[in-house]
Amino acid sequence: MFVDKATIMVKAGKGGNGAVSFHREKYVSAGGPDGGDGGRGGNVVLKTDINMSTLMDFRYKRKYAAGNGADGSGRNKTGKDGEHLVIRVPNGTVVREKESGSIIVDMSDVDEFRLVRGGSGGWGNKHFATPTRQAPRFAKAGLPGDELEIILELKLLADVGLVGFPNVGKSTFLSVVSKAHPKIADYHFTTLFPNLGVVYVGEGASFVLADIPGIIEGASEGAGLGHDFLRHIDRCRLLIHVVDISGSEGRDPIEDFETISKELRSYSPELAGRPQLVAANKCDIAQDDEITERFKSYVEERGYRLFMISAASNMGVRDLVNAASDELSRLPPPTVFEADYVPKPRMQGSPEELVIEVFDDVWTIEGRWIEWILQNVNWGEHESRMYFERVLRNAGIYQRLESMGIRDGDTVSIYNIEFEYVK
Ligand code: GDP
Ligand code: MG
Repeated sequence: MFVDKATIMVKAGKGGNGAVSFHREKYVSAGGPDGGDGGRGGNVVLKTDINMSTLMDFRYKRKYAAGNGADGSGRNKTGKDGEHLVIRVPNGTVVREKESGSIIVDMSDVDEFRLVRGGSGGWGNKHFATPTRQAPRFAKAGLPGDELEIILELKLLADVGLVGFPNVGKSTFLSVVSKAHPKIADYHFTTLFPNLGVVYVGEGASFVLADIPGIIEGASEGAGLGHDFLRHIDRCRLLIHVVDISGSEGRDPIEDFETISKELRSYSPELAGRPQLVAANKCDIAQDDEITERFKSYVEERGYRLFMISAASNMGVRDLVNAASDELSRLPPPTVFEADYVPKPRMQGSPEELVIEVFDDVWTIEGRWIEWILQNVNWGEHESRMYFERVLRNAGIYQRLESMGIRDGDTVSIYNIEFEYVK
């Protein structure tokens, strides 16, 4: 089965927790704190794999999680970092965020891309030792990893795309100009998934040709195979529009041409406007000169170049290939889809859920809400620090601290941030 679209969940690893531990040795009475830090959570990374040609794997597995960081332990031992998870995708996969539909990355442009980042490990208690606080009995929890629901879409990397009604000879054409072996038969929709072939033009010149399932009238409304497959020609720089000139199925090439053009336009006016060559196929059995002549003048009036070919008997095929190669040399390189995704830290949890604890004169505040706030604070900027203070105040955190008995000069510790409390 050919699968060219999939939705998956990716989750980076959680950071390990910091440890609370004190150095112990025989005959040494009170050792110092030696709790190590938690390890980092692993990232989820995408990597292109040239041997993959579908997104089938993602049909059966929907959730992908990187490893969590291990907790720190005594003797200053830092926890092991969580393993990164590498997800392989075919070249040409476009990745979108599900919620907004915006593009995160086009994997035709890069080999490797970090999708979500693991949470950092929590600090062990040794970090919290000061001259006046020699035995901190607390450590920090690791931060959670990022999560994202994404849509993978395969948009093949072909230079030239074949379009046309079913049965006009597109697959036959691909098979005679390349080493691809598409299924060919005289019934409709033999091509149920796209085929790619490399066409050698000579002297190191070549291009990639894509044969996609036939478009039929009403595809824009979901008839036949619909428009799904058209995404594979989204990147094509040139289209070859193939028609059956023989009238072998009692069809009129002009009508067919117009129907397909209309379908292309309704999918994407931009795509419909891309450079096109027209191939009138099955010349070998064309009977009616009048149909041929009418089609010729129709195509010429519209400024397209027409090629009379017979894919099955290999007539006129080389001229068409050479013309395509010629056109390509003048056209800009294939489209790379630009990323427009802006990661927005999602508001999570609420100030009410925060856990405030006190150890000696150190007040720790933990919870998802504050993690979210912290992501938006740049500690190098005065403005940003003021913002942070304001947010805490407005959320009633200062009030809570006071009612719990905080005093001037106590330390407030929020994950990796510490500051002195001043009323
Ligand atoms: P597609 O649906 O457009 O991919 O069409 P196919 O390549 O599968 O061809 C459909 C039928 O037309 C097959 O039976 C082919 O053998 C036949 N065919 C393709 N090209 C020619 C041609 O140039 N001349 C003749 N007589 N038959 C052809
Ligand atoms: Mg076909």
